[in-house]
Amino acid sequence: KALWAAGIAAGLLALFWRDTFNPETISGTRVLLTGASAGIGEQMAYHYSRFGAEIVLTARREAVLQKVMERCLQLGAKKVFYIPADMSSPAEPERVMQFAVQKMGGLDYLVLNHIGVTPFQMWDGDVEHTRWLLQVNFLSYVALATAALPVLMESKGSVVVVSSISGKIATPFATSYSATKFALDGFFSSLRHELAMQKKDVSITLCVLGLIDTETALEKTRGLVYMDALPATEAALAILRGGATRAREAFYPWWLEPLCYMRGWFPSHWDWVIQSSYNYTSA
Ligand code: NDP
Repeated sequence: KALWAAGIAAGLLALFWRDTFNPETISGTRVLLTGASAGIGEQMAYHYSRFGAEIVLTARREAVLQKVMERCLQLGAKKVFYIPADMSSPAEPERVMQFAVQKMGGLDYLVLNHIGVTPFQMWDGDVEHTRWLLQVNFLSYVALATAALPVLMESKGSVVVVSSISGKIATPFATSYSATKFALDGFFSSLRHELAMQKKDVSITLCVLGLIDTETALEKTRGLVYMDALPATEAALAILRGGATRAREAFYPWWLEPLCYMRGWFPSHWDWVIQSSYNYTSA
């Protein structure tokens, strides 16, 4: 009985703890944000700006990054820089990190959000694409985090990894994408243990998102899924809050968390629910 009571008390405490986000803690922090030119990354750039952060934005398209930078400055960012980089090239993470540290004099948040373009369809046997996607969606995250760790240890900073429900529960039409997101969970959850065991005060937040209304996601999933997409600006805020409160994991929408727990209970039932959420005839 005492154990049950302690468990429930800890659960309630954890729920209460989640709401202690104070936007003022973001002011003046130094953020490196990837995939910042569009979608959720762009919205994160605007939230960090409203809260007064210094930001280095990166993605491939320079002209778009410049526009996002201008908007960030209007919204109140302390300083904004951008660096175009293609994360399919193994040399880019190190170069981007050096640029960020040189411009901001250190780092408090490394926000890993970019993804490579990938089709939303049945597995077509393109192993080369999977290899390329692993480089963009996974290996570049590992390389960026590795380059950032020494500076994050100095600042007691945070790594924020943007993942997906497809990185917790496998879903159809996303074989390679899902694999890269599962890989992120494996790598960063293991690294979180190791940092804690070494008493290194760097937090790692894995963000688990459902379907979000970014242009890319809507375009890809149109006619193929029976689900409503949620607003990118809210997803972006949930990610920012997860990082700022140093949560282990952040779920948006919130009910994905109980869904992940329940997934193991009746696996065949959940397989049926998942498959029924997709329009196979149009794929
Ligand atoms: P978008 O496609 O809208 O944006 C992707 C970003 O990554 C862009 O800024 C793009 O900019 C950049 N990018 C693409 N290719 C590369 C590359 N090779 N090198 C460097 N940067 C690149 O994605 P979302 O906003 O929809 O997704 C953001 C994150 O949220 C991802 O991690 C995704 O997995 C996750 N997520 C999204 C969901 C959704 O429904 N939208 C659902 C679950 C998770 P550029 O083209 O200029 O390079």
